[in-house]
Amino acid sequence: MSKDMRRSYRISLFALLALGLASTAGLAAAEGEWTMTGRTYDLQRFSPLEKINAKNVANLQAAWSFSTGVLRGHEGNPLVIGKVMYVHSAFPNIVFALDLTKPGAPMIWKHVPAQPADTIPVACCDVVNRGLAYHPSGKLFIELLAGDLLALDAKTGKQLWRTKNADYKEGSTMTNAPIVIKDLVIAGISGGEFGVRGRVTAYDVNSGQEAWRAYSTGPDSEVKIGPDFIVNYPSHKGKDLGVSTWQGEEWKRGGGTTWGWYSYDPELNLFYYSTGNPGTWNPDQRPGDNKWSMTIFARNPDTGMARWAYQMTPHDEWDYDGVNENILVSLPVGGQTVKALVHFDRNGFGYTLDRTNGKVLVAQPYGPGVNWASSVDLKTGVPTKNPKFGTTAKNNTEKICPAAIGYKDQQPAAFSPKTNLFYVPTNNICMDYEGVEVKYAVGQPYVGAIVRMYPGPGGNRGRFIAWDASKGKVVWEIKEPLAAYGGALATAGGLVFYGTMEGWLKAVDAKSGKELWKFKTPSGIIGNPMTFLAPDGKQYVAVLSGIGGWAGIGVAAGIGAEDPTAGLGALGAFGDAGSFTNQGGVLTVFSLPERVASK
Ligand code: CA
Repeated sequence: MSKDMRRSYRISLFALLALGLASTAGLAAAEGEWTMTGRTYDLQRFSPLEKINAKNVANLQAAWSFSTGVLRGHEGNPLVIGKVMYVHSAFPNIVFALDLTKPGAPMIWKHVPAQPADTIPVACCDVVNRGLAYHPSGKLFIELLAGDLLALDAKTGKQLWRTKNADYKEGSTMTNAPIVIKDLVIAGISGGEFGVRGRVTAYDVNSGQEAWRAYSTGPDSEVKIGPDFIVNYPSHKGKDLGVSTWQGEEWKRGGGTTWGWYSYDPELNLFYYSTGNPGTWNPDQRPGDNKWSMTIFARNPDTGMARWAYQMTPHDEWDYDGVNENILVSLPVGGQTVKALVHFDRNGFGYTLDRTNGKVLVAQPYGPGVNWASSVDLKTGVPTKNPKFGTTAKNNTEKICPAAIGYKDQQPAAFSPKTNLFYVPTNNICMDYEGVEVKYAVGQPYVGAIVRMYPGPGGNRGRFIAWDASKGKVVWEIKEPLAAYGGALATAGGLVFYGTMEGWLKAVDAKSGKELWKFKTPSGIIGNPMTFLAPDGKQYVAVLSGIGGWAGIGVAAGIGAEDPTAGLGALGAFGDAGSFTNQGGVLTVFSLPERVASK
């Protein structure tokens, strides 16, 4: 366990003790909990539990299951706080509290938020939700697809407040898991395919009052770039780049939405997130770098002011949203231990940055045959693009790797401080891409490209890899026939869990990648496995299944595979997913049988 992690355990435990909510079991209880989306602020998705381990995992069996009653894609993972598990669903974003003290975990309460049905077609890539956030005063938060941030009383499930953050009638929806930092809850927006101007907004956890808002595009005053902003690269230097790197007023429709995972470093008091594609996918309509789309931001959570920013894909031509998770670890790089931030981008590069200042230390492809850029220049921070695979509305560019859906999309990676390796669920998909001239209309799709996706090098559509972020190298890989479109979990038991689009939950050896166990859940997995200690003292592993998201949109929304460009190109790659799995929305929970567990 890293020093940073120990500190964050202590902080969360002190917070709980101060409020009289912690159990008398002390630190052991906190180790068995999962109180925020990535378990800890660093998004490592690592659990110190080791009762289930490489020696006994072959005996793992289903203990109980729970249907959310919703059949669209289920991303994210439940939380476990004290003796209660909190589960969320896809639209209409139902929240359930389950009692872990009783066999089969019966329901304590269920909250069904009222949401208009005409929100559904405004979500580009299924009506997913990536999960809940929790404040130790007993409040749960969920972003509603229609654009409201909802606060619930964790004890009763009653609404505490509900505030409008985005308007689905203008094309902006909400799908990501918010983050709670001190007494603020920070929410993002989706809608990069609807000409939405991305932003993050912080609200007071008690009142729901807005504390600050920071945009991804526009003048520095609205992006919240001030005198403290660190500039490392010439292309990041200058005033109001969020306006000047766009043509005309295109920045107002400039995308840069904020639908990914958020991390936080309490010591540096910086929170990290990144932004999506620039609006419209047709690059001819927006010459320039299009800042600050495709950018990792570090911000002060108290004020929203940016500390640094790094744009991974200037002038995107491929819909390589930069929103994937930013995992915080201490790593040896070039003979020094660095406070690192590790990010596996949709564009196929795995980045290791110094998270104190935003300098890129390592940038190497983690997938095969990345061809839109040959490398990332560490001096300038700029990728060396290959014009052969650039896109335009003048012609159809073929055989671009990776595809728009990325060699990795939202499915979050995990890190084990025991092996110092990252465990990354990936897609292996390439594409043809043709820009299309498009006119903006409020609340209407603003896509501007025709995309066809298909399997990448080797023909397998997914890979699960172990990655050394100090060197930027794949250590081992497992080929998957479909995408590994669910998240990863690493444990002190020497295990890594991940899910596949067919619905397999697999456990592999963290060192070798050897498969040790698998179970076929009722539907394709696009959610993230997690683990916890229940009041009975046993360790459990849980995962949501429920095919959907961008990769699974065909099955989730009942779209046929006749047109390979349907589902923004996903049907070309995953049109046969319905022959592997069916719709569902089920949480499956696993444990060891008594004879093995008590050994
Ligand atoms: Ca996008």
